Amino acid sequence: MTKPPVPSDPIVGIDLGTTNSLVAFHDERGPRILAPSDAEAIVPSVVRYDDDGSVVVGADARARAVEFPASTVSSAKRLMGRSLDDAASDLAYLSYEVVAGEHNTARVRLPDGRIVSPQEVSAEILRALQQRASASLGVEVQKAVVTVPAYFDDAQRQATRDAGRLAGLDVVRIVNEPTAAALAYGLGTSQESRTVAIYDLGGGTFDVSILRITPAEREGETSFFQVLATAGDTRLGGDDIDQQLVRVFLTEIRESLGVAEDVTDLDAFPASTRRALVSFAEAIKIRLSTEESAQIRIDLGEGRTYERTVARAELNAMMTPWVDRTIEACKRAMREAERTSGERPAVDAVVMVGGSTRIPLVRDRTGAFFGVEPYTALDPDRVVAMGAAVQAGILSGSATGSLLLDVIPLSLGIETQGGAVAKLITANSTVPARATEMFSTSVDGQTSIKLAVYQGEREMAEDCRLLGEFHLAGLPPMPAGIPQLEVEFLVDASGVLNVNAHEKRSGKRAQLQVVPNHGLTRSEVEAIERDSLTHAREDMTRHRIVDLIVNSKLDLKWIGERFDRFADKLDAAYRDELSSKIETLRGFVQNADTDWKSVDANEFANAKQGLDEASVRLQEVSITESLKGD
Ligand code: AMP
Repeated sequence: MTKPPVPSDPIVGIDLGTTNSLVAFHDERGPRILAPSDAEAIVPSVVRYDDDGSVVVGADARARAVEFPASTVSSAKRLMGRSLDDAASDLAYLSYEVVAGEHNTARVRLPDGRIVSPQEVSAEILRALQQRASASLGVEVQKAVVTVPAYFDDAQRQATRDAGRLAGLDVVRIVNEPTAAALAYGLGTSQESRTVAIYDLGGGTFDVSILRITPAEREGETSFFQVLATAGDTRLGGDDIDQQLVRVFLTEIRESLGVAEDVTDLDAFPASTRRALVSFAEAIKIRLSTEESAQIRIDLGEGRTYERTVARAELNAMMTPWVDRTIEACKRAMREAERTSGERPAVDAVVMVGGSTRIPLVRDRTGAFFGVEPYTALDPDRVVAMGAAVQAGILSGSATGSLLLDVIPLSLGIETQGGAVAKLITANSTVPARATEMFSTSVDGQTSIKLAVYQGEREMAEDCRLLGEFHLAGLPPMPAGIPQLEVEFLVDASGVLNVNAHEKRSGKRAQLQVVPNHGLTRSEVEAIERDSLTHAREDMTRHRIVDLIVNSKLDLKWIGERFDRFADKLDAAYRDELSSKIETLRGFVQNADTDWKSVDANEFANAKQGLDEASVRLQEVSITESLKGD
């Protein structure tokens, strides 16, 4: 596939965050993060001013922040456009000196006496983002849409524009972060008014916003986003959990060492120990977002170790008061939204933003409070930048070429045994769309089932586009074919696909959410459609043969077992007939497994049917013998 061309004067989208910043670009294929590599997608919002006048931005500055506390500026966003008095409550958390500048504005004083404004610090970050964007797109980037929190006042917004100007970047639009998050999910494309909650829980801050999105009245205009309410807490986030875990570990270490003095005071430790403990704690927390338990092991010296397992339930209990506080803020925001709009708004969608929304408890509680399944398909660290890029795309006209969401452009399905795709939702279905299908296993004792979700018109998974994979784990071992796996596909009005898998005998569930239309241009969709027509006949035959292989293997297994067990109860002629039919089908399976083209689908199907019919007598014998208690 060829890349869509880059315009000569592109507009990028920038999420200028308190701790992290990202830059993204929108073309015909949708929004994408611009970075030298996926692992480097995030630029930490950290700037170090060295004595020799050089400036270090991003990961390098953050990595050595502990060494240079007074010349490393982080969280400059907390000072943007604010007076020293406004910022007073934040000062205790900053490692550098903040002084009053003109009109009592907050400024940073570096150890060498230089004074820099928060705008200048932010400009360094913007410049770094601009450089990587230019490198990645291969043209000079001079225009950007930059996001700010919904609660930013005029002075803070102006300071953000000024930062852009200092960086030589034309900030063509300032967009609210929650609006950007909604845009990333295509929530601006609906024909109906919608109310959306944006729940943003990062490392150190929490925000919730309630938006009302009103569709454009005329063709070519964009939807109108109104912030009905915001609430939050500027000192609440994932870092609190890390600290809480560290306190638990320290208390236990003290007990195990029999140390009398209070070693739970983190400040009593050297910075390196503190950092190590916090990163241990954070790793445990992150592991528990996907695992049921996680282990910590710390070498305490003198042959002693501290070892302990943390269960997800324990972490959940620890986090509950803290998640409660976010839900309280959601309640406040909903009350405020009611006041602003004169009605109690029903929330149509909830968008999750910020790394801490990967925590299952956070997702569950938020979903339960708002009464809808939260949107988690897009990376919560990237969704604001992607939305800023969508806004940039709307301004430059490229977003109008993106896919319409009123119909599903390509079929959606799940890979079945043997590599074929069972399509649950077919192309051109209107949204919202829903479909369910039952599946089972083909191997005895499977305790985990892998589900791979594909998009495309071809019959085999290898010719379709993989959207995502997930596992339904923890199943009790059951014979092949016994598990009852119900798979549900649900595409909502914004085009977000929720896949729910539910094994009915054990009650186990698993879920995946994806945005199928990201990453495809209209012409690519058309090419996929044409391609499927070219291969239609061959694909159908292959799908049929693959299914025949899987089903024949199951038959051969069941029939083979009974045949071996009851052979001596069968008359010789029937035994020979059955034996020869088993061999014939086995031959087809073997040949088809090696090369599906070497077998004739009709002959294969006949062989299978022949054995099925012939085995009826064997089934009867096996039932009779079983009843006899043999
Ligand atoms: P942000 O400020 O949005 O970058 O979010 C950073 C916070 O998200 C930090 O506290 C991280 O520890 C936390 N975080 C990132 N990934 C996960 C995860 N998988 N589970 C729990 N917390 C996470």
